[in-house]
Formats: sequence, C-alpha cells, structure tokens
Amino acid sequence: MRFSDIPAHEHVKERLRRMVEEDRIPHALLLEGPEGIGKLAMARAFAQYLHCERRTPEGDACGECQSCRWHQTFNHIDTSYVFPVVKPEGGGDAPVSDDFIQEWRDFASDRVYMDLQAWTATFTKKNAQTMTYVTEANALIHKLAFTSHVTRYRVVIWWLPERMNEETSNKLLKLLEEPYPDTIFILASNRPEDLLPTIYSRVQRIEMKRLPAGTIADILESRHGVERGQAMTIAHIAEGSMLSALNNLHVSKESSKFLDIFISLMRLAYQRNVKELREWANELAALGREPELRFYDYAMRLLRENFVYNFNVPQISYLNPAEAQFSSRFARFINERNVETLMRVFNDARTDIAGNANGKIVNLDVAIKVIMLLIQK
Ligand SMILES: [Zn+2]
Repeated sequence: MRFSDIPAHEHVKERLRRMVEEDRIPHALLLEGPEGIGKLAMARAFAQYLHCERRTPEGDACGECQSCRWHQTFNHIDTSYVFPVVKPEGGGDAPVSDDFIQEWRDFASDRVYMDLQAWTATFTKKNAQTMTYVTEANALIHKLAFTSHVTRYRVVIWWLPERMNEETSNKLLKLLEEPYPDTIFILASNRPEDLLPTIYSRVQRIEMKRLPAGTIADILESRHGVERGQAMTIAHIAEGSMLSALNNLHVSKESSKFLDIFISLMRLAYQRNVKELREWANELAALGREPELRFYDYAMRLLRENFVYNFNVPQISYLNPAEAQFSSRFARFINERNVETLMRVFNDARTDIAGNANGKIVNLDVAIKVIMLLIQK
C-alpha cells in the first residue's frame, strides 16, 4: 500500500512523511476516525514508506524494492499485524492473528477501506464475535522480546484495538509504557473512546477526517463506473465514509435489478404468458437463495407501497424515481381485494425458499397465483 493508493487525507500523509524525514517517529501512533475512510491503509502505507529502500522524490514508497514487495504481500519480516479474530467452535485456546494470516492477506491486500462486518463474515462460525484476546498480547511480547529485527524499525500494525478485553488492554498498556527500542505501534481505531484512557493518553493521535463528498463521488465514478449524478447522490448520504457509499451503491444497484424482475413478473402475469413466466421463475432461481430472499422482501415492500399509492395521502414517499414512475401506472392493480393475498403469496414463497425449497417451482407457483390475483376485479 502506498500513499498514492489512498485518496484524500493529504495533510495526514504530509505529517507522516515529516516524521520520517525529521526522524522523529513516536513509538505509538493512533490513527482515529470513522469506519471506512482508509485508516488501516494509511498505517500500512506509513510502514511501507518507513521501510522502503528507495523512497520517491514525491514522498512515497517506491513500490518495487524488496521491502515494498514484502509489504504488499504482508510478508515484511519486521512488520506484525494484529486484528480481531473469532474463537473456534467448540472452545480451545483463544486464537491469535497469525492463525488467520492467510485469510487476512486475502481479505485486506488490495482493500483501502476496511469493513469489520465483512471481515467478521469471513469466519464461517454463526453469530461470530471478533475480539483480540490476551493470547495475542502474550505472543506479541514474546516476539518483541526474543527476536531481533533486521531493519531499523520494527512495526506493529494493530487494527481495531478497541476490540480487546481488559486483560489484553493492560498488557498493551505495559508495552506502551515500557517500549521496546525501535519498535513502533500504529493503531487504527474506529472507536478510540472505547480504549483505556491510559492507553489513549500514551499514543500520539492523528485524526483522520471523513472523506469529502467530491472524493467519494470521484471514486464511485472512476473505480465503480457510476455516472456522476448518481455518484453525487450516493456520496451525499454516505457522510464521508467510503464504506457506507459502497454499501449504498450495492443496495441501489440491487434494487434496480429487483425492480426489473418485479416489472417483468407483473407484465407477463397480466399477459398470462405462462411460457415466459417459466423462464422468469428459472432466472430468478438462478440468482441463488440469498438474493431470492432479498427479492421477495423487496417485492413485498413494493406491493405495500403501491397499495398505499392509491390513497393519494400526502406522505413520505419511500419510492425512488424509477419505482415511482412504475407505480404511477401499476398501483391501480393493487387494491383491498387482492393486496393481502398477494402479500401472503410472496411471504410464503420467501419462507419456502428460506427452508431450501426448489426456487424454480416456488417462483413459478408465485407467478401463476399472481395471474389469478391480478385479473380479479
Ligand atoms: Zn520501496
């Protein structure tokens, strides 16, 4: 990770570069700020810059030397990573980060904006809770005390130190109070208020700010192919977090796909085109179980909104422009005679699919029922 891979935050980069130039590197740094703005990426870029053998005149790591290549693959000999992990099912010793280093590499290597929820989801355990256990602090103390470093600085990058229990906190505090020579801790925290005050007061803090809406829109446009208008809309509701912008983007892309699927269903059902409805059912089933479940949730919301649409009550509209346009023509087909049954049909389908029923059969059954319910006068 290089500074140039991280959009915005120029003053933070400048401050970090200056520390290296002036050779005044604190033994503990805390990068603090909301989730999804690039704090861990900044910690990585700083460590890579510090170790780089051929820093560029622009003030970045070269990206090509041996040290840079090691950093890019999380293999740098003097850089350790600490991140929250999940206890295996069935108990046993509390795990440490190194137990999951391969998963971590796969997850984090090209990621500028970290996502705790997505990281937690890589652990297959149900209702997994991520945590940093005292075993981690013990392993770290052992490593720092008994191994020597090759380069001038040894770096420990600690993602989300707020996710450690008290016992671990106390060990970390001790490490910060009696630092090992030439060892630098870089903590990246979403919730610094959850750290022990004694830890908080011992680190040099660098606040990383929310991203400007323009930066978020630029990233959406250049890296995710979103057109400018939509990019700006998403950027404005993201409140400076790239992570929340990407989540919103995903939701808005999916709902526009679901709207198309819903419109096809209603159009084909109105035409009583059973042959094409069979294809419709197969295509929906081909999306897979989780997206099918989300489609049925979406369809129920749209039915509800269309029913309400008929009352013309000035109300908060929960329809986006594309949905509203469709509803202006479609709403009259949803009335008090069919709305409840339609909702039940969709809800039953959702339950059946959640219970692993065959999607093709369930979806076709829904389609046939919709034919009957739409023509009911
Ligand atoms: Zn380099």
